[in-house]
Amino acid sequence: AYNRVLEIHKQHLSPVLTAYFSEPLLLHQGHMEWLFDYEGNRYLDFFSGIVTVSVGHCHPKVNAVAQKQLGRLWHTSAVFFHPPIHEYAEKLSALLPEPLKHSAENQVIFLMNSGSEANDLAMLMARAHSNNTDIISFRGAYHGCSPYTLGLTNVGFHKMELPSGMGCQSTMCPDVFCGPWGGSHCRDSPVQTIRKCSCAPDCCQAKDQYIEQFKDTLNTSVAKSIAGFFAEPIQGVNGVVQYPKGFLKEAFELVRERGGVCIADEVQTGFGRLGSHFWGFQTHGVLPDIVTMAKGIGNGFPMAAVVTTPEIAKSLAKRLLHFNTFGGNPIACAIGSSVLEVIKEENLQENSQEVGTYMLLKFAKLRDEFEIVGDVRGKGLMIGIEMVKDKTSRQPLPREEVNQIHQDCKRMGLLIGRGGTFSQTFRIAPSMCITKPEVDFAVEVFRSAFIQHME
Ligand code: PMP
Repeated sequence: AYNRVLEIHKQHLSPVLTAYFSEPLLLHQGHMEWLFDYEGNRYLDFFSGIVTVSVGHCHPKVNAVAQKQLGRLWHTSAVFFHPPIHEYAEKLSALLPEPLKHSAENQVIFLMNSGSEANDLAMLMARAHSNNTDIISFRGAYHGCSPYTLGLTNVGFHKMELPSGMGCQSTMCPDVFCGPWGGSHCRDSPVQTIRKCSCAPDCCQAKDQYIEQFKDTLNTSVAKSIAGFFAEPIQGVNGVVQYPKGFLKEAFELVRERGGVCIADEVQTGFGRLGSHFWGFQTHGVLPDIVTMAKGIGNGFPMAAVVTTPEIAKSLAKRLLHFNTFGGNPIACAIGSSVLEVIKEENLQENSQEVGTYMLLKFAKLRDEFEIVGDVRGKGLMIGIEMVKDKTSRQPLPREEVNQIHQDCKRMGLLIGRGGTFSQTFRIAPSMCITKPEVDFAVEVFRSAFIQHME
């Protein structure tokens, strides 16, 4: 069966889609934080379908809600009303701060189908509202793969050049959040308490230096009429890269001074994954003008959302600049509502905080034990482990060696992700129902893989 699947894959699917591992996994079933392959082997899923299965594979409550809705109503399109969309809008709204909440006169929630589509709409909103055109994103950012968002995405190993004249070209800034240990600047993380954050004075310098670069970017000819500034609260695909403390707040102020709107891309960081807060922007003490969401919102069911202020929503509505057929689909909305209920009922945000902190400290110990573990960073259940040749040179561990460790982890029953400029960072983002004993298992798998690598 396996060979037949490989054959069909090769014959029919685009070569642009590449799977992990020289022998890609053929998965058949999922149950909460576990996945099962076609031979019945089980894997602890520490990447949750690229940071998406927020409450667990086939969560029984979410499944029951989805099945009920499947038997009731599948689709109406936005030109008719149905209860799941209104129930969902009310629930989501309750989780957002003013002025991103509902308002008496204006619709501020737009339901979409994917992260790229949500960011496309955010870009349109920024331009329609500001009457400016230029868009800024960070080097190392990932905001999607649509023609618009391709211009915002700029991750080393995933760098995509748009054919000239196509899509949106954004200005990248600053040129610092990439490369080995790209994320090891000052951050609000318990790991610092272990390593005593010897970089504290640097950190402030790093922030000031980045702010200077940011100002330079804003003053370049291509970014003079700024419409919007996109930022992930923590860069995910780039290898869990965090900004220096206070940086994002200052960057937001600079953008607003010039008439631009600030967009938080919460596609990976939202819905409680970071533990301390429900939204990633809250960890920076900022209030965005537009928030985009996808991935964890639907626990794996295609769904996304854009939430904005009444003023920006009005700018778009005035020109009737938005429509989509599937956004707000009844099944997606019913699932979305039950995901929010499960996060609350099962205290999954609190679990992200507790188990995430526990995991970060455990991995920090591995970093101290192994020369090839350059950096361990992250927040809640979004963690990066950056692999280096050694801690002095800080050169990325060659890709084949990282591949081998990755493969060994899989062989021992642990699935993890990859990211970073050189694909040198392991990304860990399990479903938020993960437990401490499962973390212990994962840490031991990593330890064995590192030991094998050293032999
Ligand atoms: N924003 C971020 C931060 C992402 O990580 C991704 C997907 N990796 C996207 C946007 C695009 O989402 P989608 O793949 O659903 O279009």
